[in-house]
Parts: sequence; C-alpha cells; structure tokens
Amino acid sequence: MFGPGPSNVPQRILEAGSNPVIGHMHPEIFEIMNDIKSGIQYMFQTQNNMTLAVSGTGHTAMECAIFNTVEPGESVLSAVNGIWGERAADMAERIGARVNTIVAPPGGFFTNAEIEQALSKYRPAVFFLAHGESSTGVLHPLDGIGQLCHKYNCLFLVDSVASMGGAPLYMDQHGIDILYTGSQKVLNAPPGTAPISFSERACQKIFNRRTKPVSFFLDLSWLANYWGCDGKPSRVYHHTGPVTAFYSLRESLAVLVEEGLENSWERHEKVAEYFHAGLENMGLKLFVKEKKARLPTVTTIVAPHGYDWKEITTYIMKTHNLEISGGLGPSVGMVLRVGLMGCNSSKASVDMVLMALKDALKHCHKSKV
Ligand code: PMP
Repeated sequence: MFGPGPSNVPQRILEAGSNPVIGHMHPEIFEIMNDIKSGIQYMFQTQNNMTLAVSGTGHTAMECAIFNTVEPGESVLSAVNGIWGERAADMAERIGARVNTIVAPPGGFFTNAEIEQALSKYRPAVFFLAHGESSTGVLHPLDGIGQLCHKYNCLFLVDSVASMGGAPLYMDQHGIDILYTGSQKVLNAPPGTAPISFSERACQKIFNRRTKPVSFFLDLSWLANYWGCDGKPSRVYHHTGPVTAFYSLRESLAVLVEEGLENSWERHEKVAEYFHAGLENMGLKLFVKEKKARLPTVTTIVAPHGYDWKEITTYIMKTHNLEISGGLGPSVGMVLRVGLMGCNSSKASVDMVLMALKDALKHCHKSKV
C-alpha cells in the first residue's frame, strides 16, 4: 500500500483490533481511552487536556474542528494550496461562515508575510492550514504562524492527517489551537478514528458560543464528556464508541512511543531523501521544487512525459501488486503520488517502488509526440 493512505497495518495492530468487543461504557474501555489520550498528547507534543479521538475518518475531525470553533457569520480564512484548503473552506461555508482564501499554485506554499497580510485584511476567527498537503506533496513550514494568528486574535487550525508522526510538529510550541490527524497514515492503524486536540484558547471560544454547533455527533461538549476531558465525575452515553478501532489506535500509538517521535521523523526524512534521489537518478522529476517543502510521507512525482499516468498505476498494481496513485484535485493528471508512511517508510519499500516504476516505464505505452 504505497498510495497516500491507507498504509499497511502491521500484524501487531491488526491483532489488537481483533480482541473481543466489550461495552463502550465499561471501565476497561475508559482506561484504553485514557491511554489513547496520553498517546495523542505525546504524538501532538501538547499538554492540552482537551485531547481525544473522534469516531470517524480525517474528514470527521475536520468537521469537528470547524463546526465547533466557527459560528454562522464569522470570518474564516483558508490557505488553499491543494484540495484540503478547498474542503475546509467548503465545510465552513456550509455552516454560514464568511470564507476567504489565500491561494498558492499546486506545489507551492505561503510565506508568513502573505499570511499576515490576509489575517490583517480579513480578521478571521479561524485560520486553516494543511501541514501536509497530500494532494500536492507539500510540507508547509509552521514557524511563527501561530504567533501571527494570536496577534490577530485568530485560532490556528492545522490539518496534519498526512504528516503527523512523519515530520516535526510541536502543537504547543507552534501555537496551534486545533490539530487533528487520521489513524490510517503514519500510525498504520485501520481507517476510522481521528485524533484531535484543542488548546485552552480554542476551548474558551467553543464553550462560550452563542449558538449550538450544527452537529450533535461532533459537539465538543458531548465528546469532552465521553473522553473524560470535562472534569465531570461520570461519563454519559453519547454514541457507541468503535471499541475495536480504539484497541488498534492504542496499539499504533504504543508503536510510535516505542520508536520515539524524533526517531520516526528522522526515519521518514532519510527514507524520503533516499527515494527522491532514486527517482532523480531514473530521470524523473519531483513536483515540489523546494527541497525543504517536500512532504516526506507523500511524494509527488511529475507525471512522466508521454505516458498515461493511469496506465502506469494500473500496471504497477497488476504486475507488482503495489498501490501507488495519481493526483487529486488540482494535481490530477500532473503527478503520481507515492506514500511511505509508518512501517512502510523503509529503504526496502523504496527499492520495491523504484523497481516497479522502472518496469512500468519500460512496458507502458509511450507516445512519440
Ligand atoms: N487531510 C489530509 C491532508 C489528507 O491527506 C486526508 C486523507 N487523504 C484527509 C484530510 C481526509 O482524511 P480521511 O480520508 O481519513 O477522511
């Protein structure tokens, strides 16, 4: 599974998920949820008490972040350098926010000066940024942006679905107010749970809203109680937590803790460099020009000239039993995307992908024009 997600699930995590189902309100499950909360705090590098996992995929966490922090009529600013900024803008529009965007071409990113200019012009309540833009392969720099948001009294919302665990991110130090990820990328757990955390500033805004969030399911007051984050002595039934998904999420966090976050970042960086050098040696071009802005977990390769990208991905799947993918949103037709996440981030995986790509370029149809 070398697409941009899901990634392969190791046996240890699969086995954890195959344990018997027990009631979602049993004390044993609460203990597991507490472990998950600690694991997420470590992975996110945050002390936030309001840290939990939403039942659902990355999109559920996106909606949880936006639906809770934004009220109708409020201003939202979304940084669009791929599909994720577009989707965040769409979600905010659906709940009646006044949405503005800053736009960079696919493969590009924003300077702090550009971000500050937009913050001062639109005065948003929330600013959305994708740390790992998986549709274009960009790793966005984070330094100083949280501080800028706070200067303009704005909450800083970051999507780290594609980057979390694979590239340095310090939620508290970076001044991030809302951060979320997914289970099926670097964590190598099955899709279906989405870690999320809210800063004290974010909670202040959320718990002093004038209106109720549009979603009952994603209402943070309910989720906070279910996850034991609201200080109340007992937890009340909200929804039936996906207990087996909690088992695997907990195990995947344990794997990350055992390796150590910094070791994981370093491994992803080294393996990505090895992969990128191998691609360039084959004469292929990387889509993201600036080296430091290349996402180590998802690589975008300029679609090889004269080939049909779909024939390449289909050939590699059929002949080598490997999944790689084409572009997404604005990068469709422009790139091939290869994900090397969690246990898949290894030199052995890179060698497999490079061999498959070489073979595909030899056997797929190449037009002469
Ligand atoms: N954000 C980013 C950066 C992603 O890569 C993805 C998944 N490709 C999502 C959000 C959405 O996650 P999901 O597919 O789990 O809903």
